[in-house]
Amino acid sequence: MSNLYRETAGPAIALPVFDADANTEVAVVGAGFTGLSTALHLAERGIAVRLFDAQEPGWGASGRNGGQVNPGLKPDPETVERDFGEDLGARMNALAGTAPGLVFDLIARHRMDCEARRNGTLRAATRPRQAERLRATAAQFAARGAPVQVLQGEALERATGHRHYLSALLDRRGGDLHPLKFARGLARAALAAGAVLHADSRVSCVERAVGHWRLHVNGATATARQVVIATNGYTDDLWPGLRRTLVPVFGAIAATAPLSAAMAQAILPQRAALFEIGAITVYCRVDADQRLLIGGRGPMREVVEPRSLAHLARYARRLWPALEHVPFTHAWGGRLAMTRDHYPHVHEPADGILICLGYNGRGVAMATAMGEQLARRIVDPAGAFDMPITGPRAIPLHGLWPFGVRAAILKGRLADALG
Ligand SMILES: Cc1cc2nc3c(=O)[nH]c(=O)nc-3n(C[C@H](O)[C@H](O)[C@H](O)COP(=O)(O)OP(=O)(O)OC[C@H]3O[C@@H](n4cnc5c(N)ncnc54)[C@H](O)[C@@H]3O)c2cc1C
Repeated sequence: MSNLYRETAGPAIALPVFDADANTEVAVVGAGFTGLSTALHLAERGIAVRLFDAQEPGWGASGRNGGQVNPGLKPDPETVERDFGEDLGARMNALAGTAPGLVFDLIARHRMDCEARRNGTLRAATRPRQAERLRATAAQFAARGAPVQVLQGEALERATGHRHYLSALLDRRGGDLHPLKFARGLARAALAAGAVLHADSRVSCVERAVGHWRLHVNGATATARQVVIATNGYTDDLWPGLRRTLVPVFGAIAATAPLSAAMAQAILPQRAALFEIGAITVYCRVDADQRLLIGGRGPMREVVEPRSLAHLARYARRLWPALEHVPFTHAWGGRLAMTRDHYPHVHEPADGILICLGYNGRGVAMATAMGEQLARRIVDPAGAFDMPITGPRAIPLHGLWPFGVRAAILKGRLADALG
């Protein structure tokens, strides 16, 4: 296994397997950022919560991602307000804009050691049409009071260490972190607040009983008044039809050996995390150990060795030719969940069931923020909720998604090539 984060996060937290019947107020399925943050915020409000993961906290996308703490939803603020109306749209934009702040506050409040840095994020344009779009995005963010700035020319070169991009939007709300350390930090904080966490505890069935729900786990039964399903790209058939509302996409990351001091100074010297806004997203950052991490679309299978991500290494060396003799030592991948409309989805398909997933590759901040929203919803169902709650809707022809994804990738490559 060549996942750098597993190598550097220290030992996993020892958690009990669920193997004896128990009762709880809230049962959470999935211990990624969504489930962990929900459990933490519920426990802090004095609610009895029990969290189940088929593996362990951070095993899914939350412990494998690019570590970029991105502000904003995938669609631009004006699109969000057009799609959901001025009031809800504005609240959704505010939630997504303040999500990085919530992450950094949680890290500080619970003293999590997860290499968090708030040096901003850069969205970079490689084509004139993208640069135009970026200017529009920047204007919309600025109109809503966000600390953003468009970098070009020398300023951009100082931020990236090359001249490959036309422009980039620096958003000072964002930053980066070690995602598996953050996931484990959330798990420790939830435990300290009184939540009960179980590893190696796949929930195989959720069924309705009188006045509560029954969850089957490892041959034992947990009963709960409320269930939260937070399984994102690893969604199975636990809730009927849920799998068909998402397209799981395989993302992958390659990491270099630690860079020399001179090289570390020359590559992303200001340490903002960067992503390109092309149809095929490439993202990179230099981590606390001075390794370059570069991510993009991966093969639709488990990635375990850098050789299978040669395309990312080649691209990195095109951006920074000095990397030519620097080896890529680690490679790994994971599943993120795309939705048809590019928004995260919250469903409440039955009384006492809440489902939240589909972050479209932007879940570090959003999933953490959604956990806080879900906890609030459970404690105060009539209170404000800053995301639309929709019915789970299957994507038409979902069975064809592997071909659809390939077609989208090819189309994206073409679109990028043509600008
Ligand atoms: C390679 C990659 C790079 C990414 N880079 C970024 C980035 O830089 N910035 C960003 O914002 N986002 C990024 N993302 C997306 C981000 O990681 C996700 O949006 C976020 O982690 C989703 O968190 P989650 O808690 O919803 O799901 P996950 O972290 O995927 O957790 C789901 C959990 O559910 C568990 N599970 C599933 N079924 C069951 C069951 N039946 N019973 C019990 N447990 C179950 C799984 O074991 C898993 O642990 C990236 C994703 C990938 C894959």
